[in-house]
Amino acid sequence: MDEVVALCKRRGLIFPASEIYGGIANTYDYGHYGVLLKRNVTDAWWKAMIQERDDIVALDSAIIQHPRTWEASGHLAGFSDPLVQCLGKCKKRWRLDHLQEAAVEAGEDPAAVRCPQCGGELTEPRAFNLMFQTNIGPVQEEGSTVFLRPETAQGIFLDFKTTLQYARKKPPFGIAQIGKSFRNEITPGNFIFRTLEFEQMEMEFFVPPDEAPNWHEYWINERLEWYVSLGVDRDKLRLRPHGPEELSHYSSATSDIEYLFPIGWSELEGIANRGDFDLKQHAEHSGQKLDYVDTATGDRYVPYVIEPAAGLGRTVLTLLCDAYDEDEIGGEQRTVLRLQPSMAPIKAAVLPLVNKDGQPEKARAIYEELRSRMSAEYDTGGSIGKRYRRQDEIGTPWGITVDHQTMEDDTVTLRDRDTLEQVRLPVAGLADELAGRLERP
Ligand code: ATP
Repeated sequence: MDEVVALCKRRGLIFPASEIYGGIANTYDYGHYGVLLKRNVTDAWWKAMIQERDDIVALDSAIIQHPRTWEASGHLAGFSDPLVQCLGKCKKRWRLDHLQEAAVEAGEDPAAVRCPQCGGELTEPRAFNLMFQTNIGPVQEEGSTVFLRPETAQGIFLDFKTTLQYARKKPPFGIAQIGKSFRNEITPGNFIFRTLEFEQMEMEFFVPPDEAPNWHEYWINERLEWYVSLGVDRDKLRLRPHGPEELSHYSSATSDIEYLFPIGWSELEGIANRGDFDLKQHAEHSGQKLDYVDTATGDRYVPYVIEPAAGLGRTVLTLLCDAYDEDEIGGEQRTVLRLQPSMAPIKAAVLPLVNKDGQPEKARAIYEELRSRMSAEYDTGGSIGKRYRRQDEIGTPWGITVDHQTMEDDTVTLRDRDTLEQVRLPVAGLADELAGRLERP
């Protein structure tokens, strides 16, 4: 993990936020290549959820909703972690549930956990609500308290009725959104695995109640395959159904998709059968009818909800950990991100071999043609080896080099990041060739 973190910092993908003030807990900024990588992930998610289907519509709901939302959803009363503090030397705070899970996995007694840092005794657990609070208006007064959403899902439930009306859909159908959520997480973050603010990619799929178990299975498989389609190693992905004691208050069944991070198997996405809990709760608290009436049969029912809830940051971290590699070229060590080309922030780098003899102008012209088809870079700085190394570290799959032969016969060399093979290709048709490669699985 340390190597991935160092690479992200070095190449400006992801780095600590507020660094000039010493940073702020569990909060990171995404630089240029990090933003491009994130966009590739969200584009792939929208494509799978919206573009390639006709039963899901998009939504972008507000971060600050009516405070009663969180009363109805159960977050105000129940969205808390059991916090314990070390009574020994280090005084560190921990999540009791995490310590107990680790103890069970290690074959130890979960009732006898002690501080993992210094071995000290721990306090009794205290319920700690994870929602960030703020106020609307100039004074803090009764009724002005609002919350930053801890999940994007609730905005979807609030807009269920509106969407049903304007989108002319009937169950089974879904509403998808990507957006920031906020949680006052108290435990160390492991880089971007657990952050205070994070983007979620959530979809609520509304179905007739008797179809819910089948749709749950369906979405578990769809979502697992989606990660494979991004190039993630299938052997490092697994499904983990929640035991009865672990289920959230709203869920009758949940399966997590886990990835084998350097910190061990950890949750990447949860796929829950939320039943009719949310719509019923909001119907009761708002006094509105949130059911579906089938005009053909006259049937009236509250749909069940299947929810695939993914984290954008965790997906980015998965791609980075999965792609990170080191090898040796000509006795020199190289760090390389073996990202699938569709996920790579930059697809092609165009490099003049020398900064003279018309090569820079030629390379620039090739780059300008390419960039209208895919994200490309033109780089003249440093030796050709150094420039390749830089591109390898950000996962650029193709390097295009303009050399003296280019000036004679209008061909370039195309270098493959993984095989290091270099082939000579005519400049005409180069963009088509790369676009074709990008499309291929
Ligand atoms: P965890 O058990 O790791 O706290 P969770 O089960 O509470 O996660 P969900 O409420 O199911 O998480 O949220 C869905 C997804 O949102 C998670 O699978 C994860 O990818 C992402 N997520 C949740 N909390 C965070 C966080 N603090 N930082 C980054 N991503 C998060």
